[in-house]
Amino acid sequence: MDFIPYSKQDINDADISAVTQVLQSDFITQGPAIEKFEHALTSYCGATHAIAVASGTAGLHLICLALNLTKEDVVWTSPISFVASANCARYIGAHIDFIDIDSATGNICINALKEKLQTAKHANTLPKAIIIVHYAGRPCDMKQIKALTAPYDIILIEDAAHALGATDGSHRIGSCKYSTATMLSFHPVKSVTTGEGGAILTNDDTIATRIKLLRSHGITRENEQLIDKNQGSWYYEMQYLGYHYRITDIQAALGISQLTRLDTFIHKRFLAAQYYDQKLSNLPLILPPLDKNSAWHLYPIQLSPDAHISRRKLFEALRLANIGVNVHYIPIHLQPYYKSLGFNHGDFAQSELFYDRVVSIPIFATITQEQQDYVIDTLTKELICS
Ligand SMILES: *Cc1c(COP(=O)(O)O)cnc(C)c1O
Repeated sequence: MDFIPYSKQDINDADISAVTQVLQSDFITQGPAIEKFEHALTSYCGATHAIAVASGTAGLHLICLALNLTKEDVVWTSPISFVASANCARYIGAHIDFIDIDSATGNICINALKEKLQTAKHANTLPKAIIIVHYAGRPCDMKQIKALTAPYDIILIEDAAHALGATDGSHRIGSCKYSTATMLSFHPVKSVTTGEGGAILTNDDTIATRIKLLRSHGITRENEQLIDKNQGSWYYEMQYLGYHYRITDIQAALGISQLTRLDTFIHKRFLAAQYYDQKLSNLPLILPPLDKNSAWHLYPIQLSPDAHISRRKLFEALRLANIGVNVHYIPIHLQPYYKSLGFNHGDFAQSELFYDRVVSIPIFATITQEQQDYVIDTLTKELICS
């Protein structure tokens, strides 16, 4: 069997022709495709504003900047995420802390959140913002999280890098129904791709305006935004210390074309998850609950405590069989940088337990039944026969 990655993009002729058209046009960056892409994102997700940027990480950084977070502020997120979920707060010097997960889903645990809010209230260490990670594309219960955090005026930010195409049953992820802003990523393993790229969704006009400025050096040319309005038409003002976090029109064109197939991608991912769910249920594994609302970015299986093989052995055997398994994630607080800030083993027990048992097996829109059968057979052989 040829190598099966844990995830990969699906690029078709329409995508290629959309990119080619931009390449043959006058603007390959700072042109009209970017706004078109942003419009496609707002109409899909149901938010008022979308700002497309260079990466999801840039998006998280811009959200933290636009919220005026400072080094006096505390930000919480999940330990079971990519490091960018926490790094964005550190870019501004804010204090970071984590909420332990529910090991059934990999999302933050509502009870852990309740308890941590109580403790933080008494210790006067309540966070200014919480970055909610929809792990593997499975939506967190935003309504409940909003209800718990609203009494303390905590700002909710969604890291939806995994979750474009997911819904909470009534609203699409990205609608920002319960959050101030949502970040999306368009890295090739995510729901849709632009190569590299990301976007911020928000219903807040002020935050959207600030993010647009900060995406491009803090510079504006818009007459109504200028402080000095009596200048020539060459004139622009740098009003804030911004960054260069723009996306190109080449990428935006790919994004627009990809978005037209997003629902198909998610449906195919769901069917693949359903197939694994049926075929792996008799093995000593804890399977992710089969949620119809998830974007199924990952299919993370956990070894049961009664399995006869270690996670490490299973992982190596699958890799040896040309299956591109991965581990999502090494808990962020156990990374050397975060340990240097004072975090340690034992701080978030459920996250650490989850990490010890989890393996992401291949799931993507174009995975074939033959590829899935091969993954299932290899897993069965390792878990039953060894
Ligand atoms: C991919 C990812 C990011 C970062 O997105 P980039 O576009 O790669 O910068 C952030 N958070 C999570 C959970 C991710 O999976």
